[in-house]
Amino acid sequence: MTRAQHCPSCSQSLLDPIEAHGSSAEACTHCGGLWFEAGRLAAAIREHDPSAMPPGLVASAVGAKLAASDGHCPSCDHALGVYDLSDSNPVRVEICQACSGVWLPHGNLDRVLALLAARGLGGAPRRSLGASS
Ligand SMILES: [Zn+2]
Ligand SMILES: [Zn+2]
Repeated sequence: MTRAQHCPSCSQSLLDPIEAHGSSAEACTHCGGLWFEAGRLAAAIREHDPSAMPPGLVASAVGAKLAASDGHCPSCDHALGVYDLSDSNPVRVEICQACSGVWLPHGNLDRVLALLAARGLGGAPRRSLGASS
């Protein structure tokens, strides 16, 4: 990874690679957001709690798209979409439908993990990302 990745929230800031719960992510030191390339958020969640979710659940469990984000994907520059991870306990996530990367605004990784610990995703509508073009 040699290309600089820009924060989707504060586009002037560059993202720094970090380790997040045993997986790798890119962090914005300015706003505290975290960028996970495809599959990495699920890997981090399984590392945190192996029983929390089957592979791919993050990509399939998000609710309806709420809005288009102002931000663009740090990996491929596609526009991001804003989603709630769960209808019952909204946690904002931004997802790139081109590469399935996930942007978590500051603090939302902890909220996602807490939600999974409470099995809060059980009633979430299932939606397949990237199935339509
Ligand atoms: Zn930022
Ligand atoms: Zn992308």
